[in-house]
Amino acid sequence: MSRASSLQALYVLLGDPVHHSVSPAMQNAAFAALDRHARYVALRAWRELVEPLMRSVAGGNVTLPHKLVAAAALDRPSDAVRATGACNVFWWEQGRGLCGDNTDVAAFRAAAGAVLGSDLSGCSVLLLGAGGAARAVAYACLQDGAERVAIFNRTSEKARSLIDELGAPAALSEVDRAAGDYDLVVNATSLGLLPTDTPPIVLREVRTKALLDLVYSRDETALVRAARDAGVKATDGRRMLLEQAAASVPLWFGLEAPREVMEEALMDNV
Ligand code: NAP
Repeated sequence: MSRASSLQALYVLLGDPVHHSVSPAMQNAAFAALDRHARYVALRAWRELVEPLMRSVAGGNVTLPHKLVAAAALDRPSDAVRATGACNVFWWEQGRGLCGDNTDVAAFRAAAGAVLGSDLSGCSVLLLGAGGAARAVAYACLQDGAERVAIFNRTSEKARSLIDELGAPAALSEVDRAAGDYDLVVNATSLGLLPTDTPPIVLREVRTKALLDLVYSRDETALVRAARDAGVKATDGRRMLLEQAAASVPLWFGLEAPREVMEEALMDNV
């Protein structure tokens, strides 16, 4: 398959919304530090345009709500994409076609390890949400030997299909209330992106050692603030965002990511 050469230095973030994203700042800083003659832009894309755009550019990332559509578009999905049904990074390889991976898995593992102070083995996790990010979280928890992952989602069918897609292991279950005792709570819903959003859980009904909010903002999110006020160790999605962005760079260029430069761009632009 041949492609337009003028777009082969173009990397894109596909999602909706994307206006708040700091990925262009992080990736353009990385490209400059690595002396790559490439540009990274965020494109608000509707569903039908995701695959054509993925097939027109050198590579990029995918964010909500398109990670599942992106996974289905790939010629060469990684094991993590196959297992989660979600793709957040893609690139074109001559002779292999459209390749994709899910770097949210390793990024979540790193962020969860930092807030827990340990790995996920033996942990009980309350997972809020059942979209693209939740798939990466559930998959990482299972891979790392979490004892229990309880999924609470607004739409019960989506929680059930997530569980089925991951092979319905005994450790994974759906709960109809966000309540009880856990080692870690993960907010993988989009609640918290807007200042008017209601919190995804009532914290007094959940006892947890740590909380990871995948949502991020310049300051701590409302959920992280509430958790810290309740004495819970909590962190927002900035660390995970940095980790998944840094993990994209070697896939595109075969080079190690300039993490410090990317972190500085993240903190300056979030
Ligand atoms: P997604 O596939 O669109 O899934 C959205 C999830 O949020 C679904 O579970 C959905 O429930 C739930 N939700 C949306 N609006 C809701 C509402 N009003 N009340 C209750 N639940 C609601 O999105 P995603 O890609 O998984 O991303 C989810 C969040 O994680 C986003 O905020 C995203 O920015 C964040 N994220 C951060 C990182 C990072 O690196 N920090 C990485 C990935 C994602 P239904 O199933 O009922 O629709």
